[in-house]
Amino acid sequence: MPTIMTHAVVGAALASAVRTPRRGLVLAVGAGLAMLPDVDVVGFALGAFADSIWNHRGITHSVFAACVIGLAAGLATSRPLGVAWWKLAAWFAVITASHGVLDAFTNGGFGIAFGAPFSAERYFFAWTPIEVSPLGLGILSRRGVSVLASEARFVVLPTVVILIAVGVARRAMRAPLGV
Ligand SMILES: [Zn+2]
Repeated sequence: MPTIMTHAVVGAALASAVRTPRRGLVLAVGAGLAMLPDVDVVGFALGAFADSIWNHRGITHSVFAACVIGLAAGLATSRPLGVAWWKLAAWFAVITASHGVLDAFTNGGFGIAFGAPFSAERYFFAWTPIEVSPLGLGILSRRGVSVLASEARFVVLPTVVILIAVGVARRAMRAPLGV
């Protein structure tokens, strides 16, 4: 996985597209949803079979799980956010799915079971520029540092650039024309 921090940054960035007065809440939900699929390290720690959908990057990283989690989160937060549940459900599903998509860009570890529970097949993208991060505290190691650097280059920087572009575009659209 890219580090959990990177997933959170991408999730919050995507969530910033939701128009709501409760900005802090939607950013927190977005960050949380994007991190959630890695709860499956529990299955990994319990020694699930490597090719089982219950192991790391299995069912919690699937498109199916993203839809279910997105729906639940949309229903739960529709009222406080003041946004239609189905709009939130769709966008939250995309945010949750962003986790598996990022993971599929990494150069190691397990492939992603996008099709679970209907298929146990594991996938990577053809281009895998992100260095896979060591699980748990391994991130503090020397290799962990090089992982963070590779993520900053391939994930965090583009995200920041997109956020700035969105901010500038919004401001430009709001600016009065003429004098
Ligand atoms: Zn993951």
